[in-house]
Amino acid sequence: MIWYPYEQMKTMHAPLKAERAEGVYLYTDRGKLIDSVSSWWSAIHGYNHPELNAAVSGRLDAFAHVMLGGLTHEPVQTLSDKLASMLPGDLSYCFFSDSGSVGVEVALKMAQQFNVNRKSARRTVLALKHAYHGDTFKAMEVGDDEDYHYAFPSKNGVVHIPTRIDALEETFRTIGDTLSCFIVEPLLQGAGGMKTYDVSFLQRARALCDEYDVLLIFDEVATGFGRTGNRFVSDLVRPDIVVLGKALTGGYIGHAVTVANKRVFDGFYSDDYRHAFMHGPTFMGNALACTVARKSIEIFERENYMAKVAHIEQFTRAQMRGFADERVKEVRIMGGMVCIQVYDRKTLDGFAEYAAARGVFSRPFLDIMYATVPYIIEEEQLRTVLSVMKSWFA
Ligand SMILES: *Cc1c(COP(=O)(O)O)cnc(C)c1O
Repeated sequence: MIWYPYEQMKTMHAPLKAERAEGVYLYTDRGKLIDSVSSWWSAIHGYNHPELNAAVSGRLDAFAHVMLGGLTHEPVQTLSDKLASMLPGDLSYCFFSDSGSVGVEVALKMAQQFNVNRKSARRTVLALKHAYHGDTFKAMEVGDDEDYHYAFPSKNGVVHIPTRIDALEETFRTIGDTLSCFIVEPLLQGAGGMKTYDVSFLQRARALCDEYDVLLIFDEVATGFGRTGNRFVSDLVRPDIVVLGKALTGGYIGHAVTVANKRVFDGFYSDDYRHAFMHGPTFMGNALACTVARKSIEIFERENYMAKVAHIEQFTRAQMRGFADERVKEVRIMGGMVCIQVYDRKTLDGFAEYAAARGVFSRPFLDIMYATVPYIIEEEQLRTVLSVMKSWFA
């Protein structure tokens, strides 16, 4: 049988069965539903996109996959060239992997070995409270969410701080010389509760990382490709390492990339084999994933998706204006994300079923009801999503 994610198998509701999907719609055994989640905010083009489909099937005539050890190929080369030119500054050195969690592990390993290679004793990792960086072990340690990782409380060598500049400054003053890196989900902390914070925090973090010689890592697995209303948050404040995943392949195939700047890359570039980066997921640089990612980025740029995200944000703000309820703690909107946080998470019990009965697929978590819609959504469809969310409280 299938063991489902984040579920108590004994009490879980039967999942909806997806039979096909097209545009923003999931065709399920309980009807045609607008997907307000975008398959964990990855399916930015919606589903069954003709150009993405053609890219994948066209690619199959050559090969689906060859390993990247001792071999290279055109899809991985053109994707890494594209990412290097798209990302700001010298964020150009692309290490591919098969999922966001692994991309985060790769970034943290890079930061640690960067210090080993330069014979520095710095090993402590700084991270944020309420962070979510994935479900593998080190990703759980830099994460800070009771609800996901309560069975694994170890936070070995990791210090968590709130997104407050005074806490940031105090931490660097006291342990700045022991830090190898500072990892954050920039501007928007997703799975930890859709928490937003100000860019001034990241600007101060950048300055302190420079002052104390600490690598700054942006986990843009969720925020990358427009979700915050910025193409990448790295366009605003430049990290030393950035991790992309989720929307990288337009939601088609699990893949991630950890992109380092020249300084980090040069920390491994030497005549000493022991300075090499010893990591290599079997499916890294998968040709189907790289092909669909390249096509996804082409569409993202050609169709001016940033304007679509800006429109989603503006329309969402207008629709949510004046919405309030005594059970609601806060409404947060940033780019292509809107969430309604409630005081008591029991308030959201039954909402998924309620939404499905009204044509919307939703999956609230913790005390959060949210939408991260595909960017191709039309106004009427978005209006439906938002009115279903609001009407739950009516
Ligand atoms: C989803 C997510 C991950 C993990 O990515 P997977 O592909 O699920 O392993 C890591 N970091 C952030 C910020 C995420 O949102």
